Amino acid sequence: MAVLAAGALAAAMLWSIAHWTRTRAITDLAATSGHVLTLVTETLAGELAKHRSTPLLLSHNPRLIRIVTGAASEEELSAANSELSRLARVTDASDIYLMNTAGTTVATSNFDQAHTFIGQNFSYRPYFIEAMKGRFGRYFALGTTSGERGYYFAHPIFEGRYVVGVAVVKIQVGQIEDSWRATDHEIMVIDEDGVVFLSSRRRWVLRALAPLTREARQRIAAHRRYDGRELLPLSLDMGEPVDGVGRIISFKAASAPRHATPSQPTSAKPDDDGDSASARNYLMQSRAMLDAGWTVHILANTRSVTRQVNTALALVLATFAALTLAAIAVYQRRRRVAERLQFQTTVNAELEHRVALRTDELTRANRQLEAEVGERRRTENELRQTQSELVQASKLAALGQMSAGLSHELNQPLAAIRSYADNARKFMERERYDTANSNLGLIVELTERMARIIRQLRTYARKEPTTVRPTPVVRAIEESLALLHRRIDDAGITVSVDVPDYDLTAIAGEVRLQQVLVNLISNALDAIAAAKPSSERQIRIAAREEQDAVVIRVADSGPGIPPENLPSVFDPFFTTKEVGAGLGLGLSITYGIVQQFGGTISARNPDGGGAEFKIRLRPARAEAENAA
Ligand code: ADP
Repeated sequence: MAVLAAGALAAAMLWSIAHWTRTRAITDLAATSGHVLTLVTETLAGELAKHRSTPLLLSHNPRLIRIVTGAASEEELSAANSELSRLARVTDASDIYLMNTAGTTVATSNFDQAHTFIGQNFSYRPYFIEAMKGRFGRYFALGTTSGERGYYFAHPIFEGRYVVGVAVVKIQVGQIEDSWRATDHEIMVIDEDGVVFLSSRRRWVLRALAPLTREARQRIAAHRRYDGRELLPLSLDMGEPVDGVGRIISFKAASAPRHATPSQPTSAKPDDDGDSASARNYLMQSRAMLDAGWTVHILANTRSVTRQVNTALALVLATFAALTLAAIAVYQRRRRVAERLQFQTTVNAELEHRVALRTDELTRANRQLEAEVGERRRTENELRQTQSELVQASKLAALGQMSAGLSHELNQPLAAIRSYADNARKFMERERYDTANSNLGLIVELTERMARIIRQLRTYARKEPTTVRPTPVVRAIEESLALLHRRIDDAGITVSVDVPDYDLTAIAGEVRLQQVLVNLISNALDAIAAAKPSSERQIRIAAREEQDAVVIRVADSGPGIPPENLPSVFDPFFTTKEVGAGLGLGLSITYGIVQQFGGTISARNPDGGGAEFKIRLRPARAEAENAA
């Protein structure tokens, strides 16, 4: 809809610009051709005026009255002819002649020429008729004798009150056309019937602007004005009048057949472009020459108008095109900007979407992590639970192991007690009371030893809470050695204990610390047992405070731990011992217990050979300070 409206608006604008330009161009053209028209009419009028008075002068010559009345002698007649001839030469007239009342030429300037008028009758010519009425006669026509276009001025020759003859001056007007060839305009001089008498264009001469009426044809024939010429109409469209300046006429494409004109071929423009399309439209302006009986038409080719209109339209169209292009450019720029904005919006939306997705993923991952952490915590708890259970289980296992040792340990004194008792009875029967008494003393000693073993067992079997407290290190070492002294003695192993501070205490648990030490010492015993019998058999236990920690070292003279096993010795169920000899739980439980104490345990092979386990515990002193 908008496009249609814009199109209509543009068309209306173009039309008004074309119209305005055309009007202006036509006005300009009209001004120019108006000047030419004035010039042409004035020249024509001047040309005619030159000869206008000649017949009047002649009519007052008394000698001529004699000639027209037929009273003159041959000499007078020939003198008159000569005089007329001279006069014609001087005034540049074509012919000057005298007619009697019958219309017959009696004297003429062309008396000596082939086509002389002498004896010719021109009574049919209107100028003669007018003059015979005593009036000034003027006429233009195609000369019947000469075939030239002439203008005739006639004056009556009076004798008293009577017209006795007519003096006539004929001038040739054809030559005037020559000067018209120099102008850009076409010129037509037409008679009252619309017949072209003079023209800048040869073909138009003696053609009618419009078909002649029968009456006009008859009149023209009667006066023999155009010597019986056909006077075919020009194929002319008189067009529309243009306000105040004239009218636009056009020559139709199919013009009437050419016909030869009577005028000199050189006196008018050639007809070569007469029918060409570009030359067909003219602005016609007219001016009447009332005296002469002529109307002068001037025809200005409207090519320049068309050119100006076309130029204006081209300019406007070019401007339009430029504006349209500019508008398109602006529109496209805007669209590009809009597209870029749209693109950015899309990209932003995409980004936001991705961020949202990523956030979702992260949130999910977080949740999963939290779940995993929870799971791990649960597993840890379970592990801790399992570990504490294992501690207990290992205690039981140790108990089992110990009960084996214990039965051995208890059986031996029991057997000894039995034999001491038997012996005592026998000594008492023999009344050797001293010996019996010493045997009984030995029995008491043995039962005390047994009671001590049983006491130790009780403490070990008790499940200790996981809480920690300051624990004397020396006592724990002594208790563990006491528990294992039998094995130590049997294996013939020297145990050295190096604890400079007898009151050294660490944050631990009594039974658990003992358990740790028993584990380490019994591993050391196993290691030494596996070593060559010839080698040194020694276990060194040392405890001292080092850099804010209580460090307990258990070293042996065994073969040491193969380096590849070092990272695994604290793993549960890691063992190098034979099936049934070890479960691989001892060090793992030890590790867990030391951790419960908030300490660390590590293993290494010292330079001197064997293996060394180092426990770092928090000193009880620091704990007490912290509490304070
Ligand atoms: P088990 O004693 O039942 O094998 P442990 O956890 O107590 O289980 O010991 C794990 C392993 O560590 C032992 O099998 C042994 O190879 C090694 N190990 C422990 N203590 C020593 C040591 N003092 N000397 C050499 N190897 C040791």
